[in-house]
Amino acid sequence: MTDTSKLTELNANHVLHPMSMPAFDNEQPLFVERSEGVHVYDNTGKQYLDGLGGLWCVNVGHSHPKMVATIQEQAAKLAYYNTFGDVSNRPSVELAEKITGMLKPEGMSKVFFTSGGSDSVETALKLARHHWRLKGQSDKTQFISLKNAYHGVHFGGTSLNGMQNFKQNYGPLLPGCSQVDGPFPYRNPWTNDLEELGQICADILERKILHDGANNIAAFIAEPIQGAGGVIVPPANYWPLVREICDKYDILLIADEVVTGFGRSGSLFGVRGWGVAADIQCFAKGISSGYIPLGATVINDKVAEPFLEAAPNAFVAHGYTYSGHPLACAVGLTSLNIVEEENLVENAGIVGDYLLQQLQPLVERHEHIGEARGKGLMAALDLVTDKQSKTPVDPASGYSDKVSAICQENGVLIRSVGPKIILSPPLTFTKENVDTMVNTMDLAFSQVS
Ligand code: PLP
Repeated sequence: MTDTSKLTELNANHVLHPMSMPAFDNEQPLFVERSEGVHVYDNTGKQYLDGLGGLWCVNVGHSHPKMVATIQEQAAKLAYYNTFGDVSNRPSVELAEKITGMLKPEGMSKVFFTSGGSDSVETALKLARHHWRLKGQSDKTQFISLKNAYHGVHFGGTSLNGMQNFKQNYGPLLPGCSQVDGPFPYRNPWTNDLEELGQICADILERKILHDGANNIAAFIAEPIQGAGGVIVPPANYWPLVREICDKYDILLIADEVVTGFGRSGSLFGVRGWGVAADIQCFAKGISSGYIPLGATVINDKVAEPFLEAAPNAFVAHGYTYSGHPLACAVGLTSLNIVEEENLVENAGIVGDYLLQQLQPLVERHEHIGEARGKGLMAALDLVTDKQSKTPVDPASGYSDKVSAICQENGVLIRSVGPKIILSPPLTFTKENVDTMVNTMDLAFSQVS
């Protein structure tokens, strides 16, 4: 029995994979064994260019020596201790200072550490409700999110996800969660004019608030650029209009920056790219470049203020065993320092622009690519049966899976998600890496169509 067939058998017998169809798990998986820079290697030693950044997260690249050294040093010193109540540790304090320093222009002041993105979203929702209760407005419990949104997999996030497949088997979900249309330039029934689209969708949000009653709504939550929904980049006027509406009706604005935080979109933060500040921001992924599970929910002074009064009800009865995990926080601090030292935000902008430019000829050449879109180093191809109708290719046809399988055979990892191809490489990607990835995709599309 070869090493691969042995691993395949063990995998099929014992592992229930996330986001998978268990009946297919005995097909041969890719066993990723080691990694370096923008590459990963499988158990046979074959090299792959990582077009996914692990899963939108390995921002500083794989096996960065400073990250490895931090893990070794901090593990030898203090791998774990809790931070409940009045227990603390140096790495979590230093990382909190670093993050609030980076977020000074947005006026964010306090960091609640979590173990990942779903935790960060859940934390944001609970802090929002608690905030309003402390302000004497305990009816403000509802949340509004966007269609096509992805906010993780806990019950709050699941209830706010805008894609049905993430919700349909898990009801009953949290009451008082609803989705409104967000601006989707490629697929909307209204207009091709971006500014008009931003205004239409902002009006929809405002009408929803008026309909449900601002006194019942705790917060509006959205991704600055929708990631899992297909890298949907809103028009430039949308977030400023949303900020105005939230202020007008006294509704908290939560930015789910799990993907966009720390540089991926070519701005240090997604909301900064839109020139606004949120009241609460959710982070994970790039915060530690995925080297170790870590997330954070950051709040501004306005949200924090009622918690800082010694009211009996101000006890935050929420927290994770791994909140403020010293090893994870030390890794996070090193990761954010590398982002600054190596100018990775700037690189994401420059190489991201180049990526989008290089993807355009593919749209012209291949009949089933309806659109290439993105911002920074997050991009998507929208796959259609024909460009006129923009009908999405049927995921059951396996079209996008075939494209990604050919890329994999040729040493490039991309992600097929239903009728979309998603790209989110490390922020260390170069233009040469883009050429390799795009040329391989070009070949794959030629072979499939
Ligand atoms: N929020 C957004 C915007 C995400 O993209 C994700 C994951 O992709 C999450 C939340 C959930 O994060 P995690 O998978 O770390 O729980």
